[in-house]
Amino acid sequence: MTLTCDVLVVGAGPGGSSAAAAAAEAGAHTIMIERKSRVGVPVQCGEGIGAYLLPFLPFPIPPEQLIWTLNELTFWAEELSTARTGKLWTTHLLNRAAFDAWLARRAEEKGAEVLRETELIALTVKTGYTVTSATVKTPAGIREIAPRVVIAADGVDATVLKLLGFKPDKQTTCGKVLSYEMAHLQLRSPRSFQVFLGDFAPGVYAYILPKSRTTANVGVGTIVFDRKLRECYDAFMELPPVRAQVGTGTLVQDKSGWAPIRSFTEHWVYDNVLLVGDVANQNFKPFVEGIIPTIICGDRAGKTAADFIRGKGALDIYPDRVRATIGPLFAESDQLIPILYELSTSKDPRDHVLRLCLFASIISLKQFEHLRRADTDYRAIQGIVERWTRSPFRQPVADLIERLGFWYLLLKSR
Ligand SMILES: Cc1cc2nc3c(=O)[nH]c(=O)nc-3n(C[C@H](O)[C@H](O)[C@H](O)COP(=O)(O)OP(=O)(O)OC[C@H]3O[C@@H](n4cnc5c(N)ncnc54)[C@H](O)[C@@H]3O)c2cc1C
Repeated sequence: MTLTCDVLVVGAGPGGSSAAAAAAEAGAHTIMIERKSRVGVPVQCGEGIGAYLLPFLPFPIPPEQLIWTLNELTFWAEELSTARTGKLWTTHLLNRAAFDAWLARRAEEKGAEVLRETELIALTVKTGYTVTSATVKTPAGIREIAPRVVIAADGVDATVLKLLGFKPDKQTTCGKVLSYEMAHLQLRSPRSFQVFLGDFAPGVYAYILPKSRTTANVGVGTIVFDRKLRECYDAFMELPPVRAQVGTGTLVQDKSGWAPIRSFTEHWVYDNVLLVGDVANQNFKPFVEGIIPTIICGDRAGKTAADFIRGKGALDIYPDRVRATIGPLFAESDQLIPILYELSTSKDPRDHVLRLCLFASIISLKQFEHLRRADTDYRAIQGIVERWTRSPFRQPVADLIERLGFWYLLLKSR
């Protein structure tokens, strides 16, 4: 027997659960399918979320989900390091498995039907991209679901896109990240998120994201695939500040995976299909921060789908609804994508330190481009970092300007 629904959500990650909750809460008959038996497991994530994004969320995260707080972000490149502090640089750690399970439960409480161990394997498509039916594999056999709207929140594997005829290629669009939860570490500062830039993380970065005084997610990413990521990880482990902290560590869990940098598709809406989360490249560069943006976009997709079902709006307004909230943050983030790729194969220490300056907001994008065009040498850029780090007033002034910009953005998004 064919199941019918208003909204079919594919994938119960943060994007799918947020979309399903919003659609169901707004009155749409919503089914969310998840191919795994346990939502959120296995974890493929660093589990950090920026505190600055919490005010943009459509619903609050219960305090018990925020298991550890990092009030400093330290950047390392070559022999240099500098730290940023304050609300805009604060990171909360989640237990992703528990967090994703909570989000899925929340969707159920709002009225969505969640079908676990249910994998999308085929789509029936009418003209263009209009999906009329979805074929799913369940422990009880193959079933058909006939939806009016499909929300594709199936992550980087992008099954919905593939079934619609797109050819998403992870090697040219995504970064690959080796990430491990480690215990028994000797962290120099358990309240500091440490970001490392250098040849060991081509195009992106390596990190130590503490989850407690002695545990952390430790990872290395790349967008260049001519070298084994394991070698990059080993090179990262050899850095003196890393060896000193992680050398004593023991492996708790592998949390590796792929994270989008470039988009698989040009649009977020294809006829009655809305794309949410990783499949739509909805994360903020340079840190490829996807959890909170994905929840916000999922909420807007769910509300848009429910409005469409009630005859109160078209589906293609979904991108505008996202732009009205976190659009400026996506615009800023998109500007960094060409830079990540341009510098990905550079072995020049100057470029690593330049990226440190940009990522730590010591310089603006304009200044970054000027320094690159002017072929400014390593020592001069080192001087910029050292003056910034030593200066008693530069950081507070920068903090104030950043905060004002942030509050303006927040007010505009209301
Ligand atoms: C190693 C690593 C570290 C990261 N660290 C961070 C971080 O610290 N902070 C941060 O903000 N972001 C981080 N990210 C990014 C973040 O994890 C993602 O942006 C986020 O999970 C995207 O959520 P999503 O709902 O789009 O997709 P996902 O979380 O991937 O969820 C997709 C779901 O769809 C299901 N699915 C897939 N195909 C099918 C199918 N055919 N049928 C049914 N179900 C299907 C999957 O099983 C999965 O549950 C990291 C990513 C990686 C890989």
